[in-house]
Amino acid sequence: MADDIQDKSWQGESAILSIADFIADPVAAADFPEAILRWRNDRAARDIGLAGLDDAQWIAHFGRFQPLPDSLATPLALRYHGHQFRVYNPDIGDGRGFLFAQCRDDAGRLLDLGTKGSGTTPYSRSGDGRLTLKGAVRELLATEMLAALGVATSRTFSIVETGEQLWRGDEPSPTRSAVLVRLSHGHIRIGSFQRLAAIDDGASLIRLARYSLVELLGHDRATIDAMPPQALAETLLAAMVPRAADLAASYMVAGFVHGVLNSDNIAITGESFDYGPWRFAPTWAPAFTAAYFDHGGLYSFGRQPETLHWNCAQLAIALRTIADAQPLIAILEGFADAYRDAFVKRFLWRLGVAARDPASDLALVEAAERMMVATSLPIDRFFFAYAAGRGASGDEPGRAFEELLARHRPARALDDRYWSGDAPQAMLIDEVEAIWAAIAERDDWTPLTDKIAAVRAFGAVMSA
Ligand code: AMP
Ligand code: MG
Repeated sequence: MADDIQDKSWQGESAILSIADFIADPVAAADFPEAILRWRNDRAARDIGLAGLDDAQWIAHFGRFQPLPDSLATPLALRYHGHQFRVYNPDIGDGRGFLFAQCRDDAGRLLDLGTKGSGTTPYSRSGDGRLTLKGAVRELLATEMLAALGVATSRTFSIVETGEQLWRGDEPSPTRSAVLVRLSHGHIRIGSFQRLAAIDDGASLIRLARYSLVELLGHDRATIDAMPPQALAETLLAAMVPRAADLAASYMVAGFVHGVLNSDNIAITGESFDYGPWRFAPTWAPAFTAAYFDHGGLYSFGRQPETLHWNCAQLAIALRTIADAQPLIAILEGFADAYRDAFVKRFLWRLGVAARDPASDLALVEAAERMMVATSLPIDRFFFAYAAGRGASGDEPGRAFEELLARHRPARALDDRYWSGDAPQAMLIDEVEAIWAAIAERDDWTPLTDKIAAVRAFGAVMSA
């Protein structure tokens, strides 16, 4: 088995086995009628030492789920509960995915290779355990664009088309099927802790907190092992709150609406993952929603910070199983400041200017928001024009923003021809639909691969 991986730096892992007794169930992948390779993320594969796989080997592992060396012998469906649109649901868990393998990156951090659309599990309920090919393509486009915009996100590692016909109430059906593999810093979610609280299993909750802090959040094992439950709970919440605040800030600055910020979709690392009905907002409209079923606008663009904070509160409530409330509440109260700082920092980054001092940085960002709301200037165009030093609005509130902007030093090299072009890189719904239509109507994958290349080039320009 091991000899099919030429690249020497693959470091298979199975850390999850230390907590599998309470968090996982062994499952098997579906036997798909076909396995057609549609996307292999060679950039990500290089990072974990799998770039040497040829396409047949790739399909064997990521379409047929032959185990990877030194990792899991059997895929594991993970157990979790969660609040869905604020209603507690104990009937969830990995219903169409599983943890396939684990490994270490060069920095020694634990990574998961998890699936979506790999077949039914004990948690599928009435679902088919499948993923539409369109859903896979959409997750790929979201992750690539978010990465270019500096968001800490899971990566879309592989897409294999599986040759089945799927029926979906909200898509033209039958529609094509796929299995996706994502690479992420764990699949432990707020809902993983909520489940243990709901079944009153404090001992396992302590073990999950230790696993999260040591394996996923970079804490020292000996220190964490020596911590009593109260300190453990506080340390975990104190790690999560600024990460969740930064996640919310990163969504706002990207103009991204995740769409389903349920507590089972919020990773304990604050890494963004699980992309369904997402959209990028065309303009800075706080009420803009992504999911057609989000009638109340609970997960609208502007409510994402509040939602992430609410999710942190659900983690705190779960941690009450092993800790007193008062110190947890104090930690939760740090969210607002952490959010504001992260939002300002990320906004300045996208705008391509250096920080000055907290008061003038905040004033600049608030003036930018006022201007975008008042003018409905497309978000991508706003950042493109002003980052390139070409923004000029002529009237209020644009002038107020421009006066403040003039006091900030540029922080990004502008020699790339992207900045003299006439259109910003964007990922709006019409383009996403057009990319999908080329695949659906003509099996033409060129618009997708061209778009990924353009987004990656954009990412390089943004981080220059
Ligand atoms: P999501 O909204 O994608 O995060 O999924 C919420 C829950 O529904 C999770 O437990 C999923 O595993 C499950 N689920 C979603 N779609 C399917 C499906 N097609 N088949 C089985 N379970 C599903
Ligand atoms: Mg989910």
